Amino acid sequence: MRGNLSSSPRKAHYPGGNFAMKTNPCVLILVDGLRPDAVAPAPMPTVLSLAPKCVYAGTAQSLMPNCTLPCHFSIFHSVVAERHGINTNTWTPQVRPVPGIFEVLHQSGKDVGFSYNWEELRDLGRPGSVTRSFLVEINKECNTDAVVADHTVQFLKDGADFIFCYLGETDEVGHKYGWMSPEYLGAAARADAAIARVLEVLPAGGSAIIMADHGGHDRTHGTNRPEDMTIPLYIYAPSHGATSISDPDLLDIAPTIAALCDIPAPAVWEGRALVK
Ligand SMILES: [Zn+2]
Repeated sequence: MRGNLSSSPRKAHYPGGNFAMKTNPCVLILVDGLRPDAVAPAPMPTVLSLAPKCVYAGTAQSLMPNCTLPCHFSIFHSVVAERHGINTNTWTPQVRPVPGIFEVLHQSGKDVGFSYNWEELRDLGRPGSVTRSFLVEINKECNTDAVVADHTVQFLKDGADFIFCYLGETDEVGHKYGWMSPEYLGAAARADAAIARVLEVLPAGGSAIIMADHGGHDRTHGTNRPEDMTIPLYIYAPSHGATSISDPDLLDIAPTIAALCDIPAPAVWEGRALVK
């Protein structure tokens, strides 16, 4: 369950800089709460047309606890919740900190962008690890997934090496109207349009991961049933080959991003790179 999102603050951090698009940027686009069986009926034409060009296009497993912040910490730090210690949607400092993908990229001199519409994610990276960021809270006035995508496009154009583009509307609508409801499928279709905006400007050498953190059923998630635990995963990486891993989960995403950005993965990470 997500928090109350009645307010709609916008925060942006745009440094100056060299405003030249990188030749091989990597974008992680996460559609919160997207179930793999929603992709076809939504429909999500951008994702469907991308699938045949991906080194991996299929499903992956979420992890318990099956809610947004713990899942994101597992995605970004490649360790299970017992290790990173984030068990609810309220952040607490890690007792034995594990470096996350934001820190690892930053320490390698990479330009990191983060565009999102759920403020609880702000602690995914240690202070100083994100070069450029944009936050808008979900509100009734506009399609904030589209706004998040537009800032992702700007960060690409401004020279980011890696951008996390978080699209939160689909989960929000799932809680309100139910997973797989017409309203939920409509939100997934709008997320697809947001994804299209980003992929349109991705240069030929760029790569993209499109995924969810968890699924959902009825008006909730958080259980270990397949509807909650199975997520879609698409890895578009024309310059990379696939590895033979056939049962990916959330822990494999940070090592995959490290491989796509040509940096080594910390030994403490538990996942496996899905590309070589
Ligand atoms: Zn949720």
